[in-house]
Amino acid sequence: MQARRIVVKVGSALLVDGETGRINRAWLETLIEDLLRLRKRNQQVILVSSGAIALGRRQLGLAKGPLRLEESQAAAAVGQIRLAHAYKELLESRDVTVAQVLLTLEDSERRRRYLNARATLESLLALGALPVINENDTVATAEIRYGDNDRLAARVAQMSGADCLVLLSDVEGLFTADPNRDPHAQFIGEVRQITPEIEAMAGRSASDVGSGGMTTKILAAKIAVSAGCHMCIAAGHHDHPVGRIEAGARCTWFVPTASPVTARKQWIAGTLRPAGAITIDAGALRALLEGKSLLPAGVVNARGRFERGDTVSVLTASGAEIARGIIAYSDADAARIMGRKSSEIEGILGFRGRDEMIHRDDLVLIRHEAPAVAEPLRATT
Ligand code: GLU
Repeated sequence: MQARRIVVKVGSALLVDGETGRINRAWLETLIEDLLRLRKRNQQVILVSSGAIALGRRQLGLAKGPLRLEESQAAAAVGQIRLAHAYKELLESRDVTVAQVLLTLEDSERRRRYLNARATLESLLALGALPVINENDTVATAEIRYGDNDRLAARVAQMSGADCLVLLSDVEGLFTADPNRDPHAQFIGEVRQITPEIEAMAGRSASDVGSGGMTTKILAAKIAVSAGCHMCIAAGHHDHPVGRIEAGARCTWFVPTASPVTARKQWIAGTLRPAGAITIDAGALRALLEGKSLLPAGVVNARGRFERGDTVSVLTASGAEIARGIIAYSDADAARIMGRKSSEIEGILGFRGRDEMIHRDDLVLIRHEAPAVAEPLRATT
């Protein structure tokens, strides 16, 4: 795996022994060793770990079988602390700092929260910590749940701009039919496009015992590949499950069509309705066309109501929309710092925000007036 940033998801069925209800510690140590080997090669690793509910329910004496939502929430509260404890012990004894991040669906679906969560992950990775993520099941109610860690992991991969997502589960990958029932079931090693046929296969394939079956894995694959991230479904119950994939063990790879930045920019350009608009001067326009960020100094006007993290239109002096981007300041703050140097921001607002009004990673050019452009521009409506 050549990836720069890898998200690995482990399912409950692997982590928690079905008989004893305890963590499969010996196996988990081999997984941790795999992850630390990736880190030694300067690859960044994020672990998405299920298991809270499976661990907690036994402790609370909740019998097997489906749990009511309140019971899952209670079990998660009890199990998550155990899970965190296990990761802390295993990682800190190997001199790695572990960080726990509990997310709810809104953390990836609402832009501001998405940006906050993304920034936190970015900081943790920059500081060398290993983020271990789970859904915040204790507070997530039915309407605001991911419900399965496959899609949570895909959102985390998208949010963190990862280039590889590995779903370790108790199935080897995707088959044309359930291999336990159909001797003619064929294994699919690579998926370049998620067609209706592929989705139909997922419905027929064997699924694991966690909340996510093959269907949620395909949904996860859709999120991952559209964000430019490779995704792999692999059997995880062997020791050193990630090492096995690297050694060529059979698994299903989903191959993306777009690179991460392009996909994220498509998300900005295509899916969000601008909350406001800012007008820029000729100098800022030139900078934007050269692929640079938008600084407060080049902004001459701000209108509309927006918060930090909202998408706004960027207009030229003649009112043409040249770009869209995620703004780092609210409308009120933007109005106060526009036309000013970035070094003055702290003095004006009383806090040190970003130097950029819109960072170039959060900016998509959509039309231009200058004859020469630095990059090909995509037309959007
Ligand atoms: N978040 C759940 C847990 O930790 C697992 C969800 C899943 O199985 O995908 O127990």
